[in-house]
Amino acid sequence: MMDFKEILERVNTFHICTRCTGRLFAQVGHELDNFKRGESIAFVAESMGAKLELVSEVECSICKGIFSEIDTYASEIERMTKNFEFNSMLVGSTFSQETLTLEKNYQELCGSKGEPIKKEFSRELGKVVLERMRKEFDRVNPEIMIKVNTEFMSVDLQIKSLYIYGTYRKYIRGIPQTRWIKYSEETRTVESLIGAPIIAMSKGKDYALHGAGREDVDVRMLGNGREFVLEVHDPVIRTLVLKKVEDIINDQKEGVEVCNLRFSSKEEVVKIKSDRHAKIYNAKISLRGEDNFAQVSEATKELIGKVIYQRTPLRVSISRSDLIRERKIIDIKPQIESDGSIILTIEAEAGTYIKELISGDEGRTKPSLSELLSKEVRIEELDVIEILR
Ligand SMILES: [Zn+2]
Repeated sequence: MMDFKEILERVNTFHICTRCTGRLFAQVGHELDNFKRGESIAFVAESMGAKLELVSEVECSICKGIFSEIDTYASEIERMTKNFEFNSMLVGSTFSQETLTLEKNYQELCGSKGEPIKKEFSRELGKVVLERMRKEFDRVNPEIMIKVNTEFMSVDLQIKSLYIYGTYRKYIRGIPQTRWIKYSEETRTVESLIGAPIIAMSKGKDYALHGAGREDVDVRMLGNGREFVLEVHDPVIRTLVLKKVEDIINDQKEGVEVCNLRFSSKEEVVKIKSDRHAKIYNAKISLRGEDNFAQVSEATKELIGKVIYQRTPLRVSISRSDLIRERKIIDIKPQIESDGSIILTIEAEAGTYIKELISGDEGRTKPSLSELLSKEVRIEELDVIEILR
């Protein structure tokens, strides 16, 4: 084992400052900051007859005087975050590979008891920034993450997205759930009808709707509504009054309404996207009249409680791989309207292709109502009337 005097003699070959000397031994004596530790090491060295020849911070081969720039960086951070509404933050920093490698080599030569410069710099800058701006420090989930690049002297902000949970109902057919490259800017979507008012209020850069599943464009979403989380990227304002947001969205009267709005999280996005709830639908079919109703009523009895096999439908086979799904039909209740049209109230497991349950999709769904009746049946109108969650 190398004795301490020998180590101190090595330090003299590094051309480093008092603070960087202290940092080489940061794991020894936790109560001191690195500068004070450096001073006491120099004192000990002198008493051992191994006087340290330390240089000024600007001349230092490791820090090159970066710690004297802390106020400059703090001012820049203050300027960049000025307009954002936030409470918690975290400051991180990066240094050139050259500096990190040099420091690591020196620390290894001194017994690997040091602390990386970026850790000390981030901590010291963080202290100044928090004190000046009166914000909280959050290591896990800060609203603003600040990254200082000391090599290029730049500051980068990562703003935590704002997440708003709610449920939506769609009363009009023909509204797609999300924006898509194929649609024009003006196309109304569930996403834009909810997202556009929210982004106007939060002054964010963009938004995304994360839905708990989706209904087809021609299907209405009624009843208790579908859960979603709207994500706002780079929000400036976080403290939205959600009751007001709800009123503004609903007052558009564009066929999409929201309720139960509350603030949410990234974790909830994952949760609602993986939920698998059974659903109840109302399906108006292409057959009409009393005779057909009697036949349909008989045939649907064959489907209740049965598992059906559904090969990926032709209409979605471009975007989804060709698989066979097994889904259980929990219940079907047929009823006839005064005008002779037939409505089926169908309860089925999550992910059942309802249109194909009726049409059979050229034999790709088995059994189907078409197959049982030996005639072509289609769905004319489909509504989700309840999601069983
Ligand atoms: Zn230094």
